Amino acid sequence: MDKPIAPYVTPWTGESTAAAPVAVTASGVAYADPVQDAIARDLDGTLWALCEGTAIGKPQYGAELHPERQRAAMEALLCACCTQPASRNEHGMLWVLPILDESVDTRWEGVRSAIPPMCEACALSAPPLCPWLRDGHVQLRVREAELIGVLGTLYPRPGSQEPLDPAAFVPHDSPNMPFVVARQAVRELRSITVVTFAADFP
Ligand SMILES: [Zn+2]
Repeated sequence: MDKPIAPYVTPWTGESTAAAPVAVTASGVAYADPVQDAIARDLDGTLWALCEGTAIGKPQYGAELHPERQRAAMEALLCACCTQPASRNEHGMLWVLPILDESVDTRWEGVRSAIPPMCEACALSAPPLCPWLRDGHVQLRVREAELIGVLGTLYPRPGSQEPLDPAAFVPHDSPNMPFVVARQAVRELRSITVVTFAADFP
């Protein structure tokens, strides 16, 4: 049987993030294995989740995007689905985001996205596949999309009574940055033009 086709950033059942042991000190969180730790840090020193496995099995639509591929697409502004350069026109870059609540009437200005941008072809073909987008999505043209932070697991400082937060947004300028194991790069979208809303895919 042919392998099903799935968007680049979609994780597969054959993949997971490694539950590598971590140590938390006053200076931050680190993998217990120094080699793993060195591999998992980006140039800014942010610690990233370690990915295991290969893209086999079934695509996990609706799961959090694959950490390595999400970051690769987000940082290079590649289409989330096909990794071609994201579409640009005079109104900016094309982003397709889920309509999460009653925000249909908002201007979307300043919305944070962990979904990378898309090319025009994938902006049409991807939403019916994706549970995040299928029930309603918006197409935006965006002139500014600064990388502002990460989504990940935020570890409490030693001695803190705070619980571990498995799904924290941590801005790059936050004192919490050394305490997060990042899984998704987040951009803040500004200078937005709303292109279209769509909803109710079968
Ligand atoms: Zn594409």
